[in-house]
Amino acid sequence: MKNNDASERLTALLDAAVDAMIIIDHRGIIELFNTAAERIFGYLSDEVVGQNISMLMPSPYRQEHDSYLHNFMQTNQPRIIGIGREVKALKKDGEVIPIDLSVGEVKNSSHRQFVGIIRDISEQVQARKDTIEIRERLAHVSRLNTMGEMAAGIAHEVNQPLTAVAVYAQACSRMITNCKPEEAHLLNDKLLNSLEKINAQALRAGDVIMRLRGYVKKHTASRELTDINQLVKDTINLAQIDTRLLDHGITLELTDNPPQLMIDAVQIQQVLFNLIRNAIDSMQDKPNEAITIRSRWTEKKLIEVSVVDTGTGVDEENRATLFNPFFTTKESGMGMGLAISQSIIQSHGGHLWYQNNHSNGSIFLFTLPSNNDLAITNDGQ
Ligand code: ADP
Repeated sequence: MKNNDASERLTALLDAAVDAMIIIDHRGIIELFNTAAERIFGYLSDEVVGQNISMLMPSPYRQEHDSYLHNFMQTNQPRIIGIGREVKALKKDGEVIPIDLSVGEVKNSSHRQFVGIIRDISEQVQARKDTIEIRERLAHVSRLNTMGEMAAGIAHEVNQPLTAVAVYAQACSRMITNCKPEEAHLLNDKLLNSLEKINAQALRAGDVIMRLRGYVKKHTASRELTDINQLVKDTINLAQIDTRLLDHGITLELTDNPPQLMIDAVQIQQVLFNLIRNAIDSMQDKPNEAITIRSRWTEKKLIEVSVVDTGTGVDEENRATLFNPFFTTKESGMGMGLAISQSIIQSHGGHLWYQNNHSNGSIFLFTLPSNNDLAITNDGQ
């Protein structure tokens, strides 16, 4: 009688719990399924007690579970016991949901039993996806905005080769019109020469457009092995559309052991682009001074990229708010560049921060992890 009381109290307690709790025996047969579990999975306790726990798992875990449990019983080497982890669960209506599962062994019971404590984390997982999507969209809007600001530079950059094409084409038609019969044998070579120049200029215009399209096109986050030094150089090519950069020039001090990092190249390019443009903005009164971009390995095997300028620097009282969205000291600034850049770097597992440049100006630095998941280096560092 006393035992019955205790077991009823235990059942009442488990039913009052917010988290789903399921007890199984050593074969995976469900012995207890509390009210919260009924709520999450859509089954009544009577429908699942006596059945194998694998019915609550989607493929391929369903097929693997029996042999996993069997191995565990033989070896006592747990893969999940004592550790919480995110896994997938199958509801009665067929929906697969992400859950947080922690499993423990029930001690001192008459036979071996395991208890699983389960929390439905669909909302958190959805919120995480939404955050990533919002960041993607924001980053995209910001790239479009930057291109909008640079419209004059882009027009100039494309217009130059187009003007050259027109000039060479006019020259060709003049050559043909004015060609004297005794010079006709020279005409072909002259025309060929001009046509090659036309071709080169048309390719140049196409190249500018291709670079821009690559930068502004909407893309879903995708990581690929990228040489960070090459990315710096490509970004400079792109940034030169802002013709002010040509006045300053850029000094490169890049590691001669460039890592191949697993990154979203367009996003990291966006960060570099923002930092370079901010550096240019801050050096308006110093048109002849160069911007320096460095890449190096830190002792902790991180790759660190810094953009150094000799501009106005950041006033002490603004340093704390520098990375806040909409913080700007520029008349036509949006104040989103650093906020977006920071969130991009953080999503890559790195950091972005400001340092005072003691010889005047600012240094913005970011790190990217170079662990095996993210990087392959030339010498396998
Ligand atoms: P925006 O460029 O639109 O203002 P950002 O988020 O890129 O937006 O920059 C926010 C502010 O940080 C800038 O308005 C400026 O005050 C400051 N800042 C950023 N980079 C630099 C820099 N290299 N030198 C001085 N100030 C900077």
